[in-house]
Amino acid sequence: MRILKNILLKKYTTFKIGCKTRYFIQADNKNKLLEAIQWAKDRGIKFFIIGGGSNVLFSDNGFDGLIIKNSWVEARKGKEAVFASSGAPMDFLVKFYTKNGFSGLEWAGGLPGTLGGAIRGDAGAFGGEIRESIISVESFNTNSNRVMMRSYKDCRFDYRDSIFKNNNDIILSAELKFKIGDKKVIKDIINSHIIYRKTYQPLEYPSAGSFFKNIPVRDVSAKIKNKFIAVIKSDPFPVIPAAAVIDALGLKGLIVGGAQVSEKHPNFIINKNNASCADAIKLMDLIKKSALKKFGIEIQEDVQIKC
Ligand SMILES: Cc1cc2nc3c(=O)[nH]c(=O)nc-3n(C[C@H](O)[C@H](O)[C@H](O)COP(=O)(O)OP(=O)(O)OC[C@H]3O[C@@H](n4cnc5c(N)ncnc54)[C@H](O)[C@@H]3O)c2cc1C
Repeated sequence: MRILKNILLKKYTTFKIGCKTRYFIQADNKNKLLEAIQWAKDRGIKFFIIGGGSNVLFSDNGFDGLIIKNSWVEARKGKEAVFASSGAPMDFLVKFYTKNGFSGLEWAGGLPGTLGGAIRGDAGAFGGEIRESIISVESFNTNSNRVMMRSYKDCRFDYRDSIFKNNNDIILSAELKFKIGDKKVIKDIINSHIIYRKTYQPLEYPSAGSFFKNIPVRDVSAKIKNKFIAVIKSDPFPVIPAAAVIDALGLKGLIVGGAQVSEKHPNFIINKNNASCADAIKLMDLIKKSALKKFGIEIQEDVQIKC
């Protein structure tokens, strides 16, 4: 196992923010993932796993522990399921499905990150969510030191949530559903999603994607629902887009240090000019306070902040 020291975390996140981690291991198979965890546990060192680093904001003070970069990339088709490793990038899996004429992951066209990150946060877009593909998930429970297999039901998926957000298990692999589809139709849907992202998201700047979760309509008053009635969308249940709320607050384009609320998509905080974690957090706090004060909405961040 190759343990690196003092590695800059900004290199491993799409936000391009984050100082040095004391230790860093790249694990490209299951055994190496488990060994890395054990290495940290044996020494009483805290550890944190990253996949694509597309949903994390690392601190300006660095990380005094071990960052495990999950680089285990594998996908195999069985008769009834696809076996995929947690480090497989979603882009790789979308291509694997397309090549085999499998339908089921079209919604993920253009979604950054790995399968592990997607399962943990039940990633979703264009009306689809990763949970719809899950048959079972294999994970390592760091408290009991046991590898566990969970059925879909036991993963307790919810909006941008799953049991893995709360139990700190390390997701190892999953069995995914698929349906046989028409390759051309599948490709066309994926491409349309990629084009939509390029058109409406500020992909020219580093970011962690949508910073805040959309707001479930069931959580807001009738008055607020009426105010945003024209923009309510299915995600896949009725939500008020956080972007619409931030826009209505007049915060589009706001700059703190090197971070900015994107003009193109106000739910993106972009790293416009060498932003620090503190810059992004100041913007986040400002947005949250304004949303609460003006609309009584408790807007919640989706990005995992690791300080
Ligand atoms: C341009 C852009 C667009 C985006 N669009 C969307 C979108 O449409 N929908 C959406 O839902 N998200 C979106 N995101 C956010 C992000 O891509 C997803 O949340 C993605 O699933 C995160 O995966 P990751 O591998 O990058 O996770 P990371 O950022 O590496 O990690 C995120 C969290 O998951 C944990 N984690 C990662 N791997 C594992 C594992 N194997 N086991 C346990 N925990 C793990 C980490 O510890 C961390 O807490 C977007 C991001 C960007 C930059």
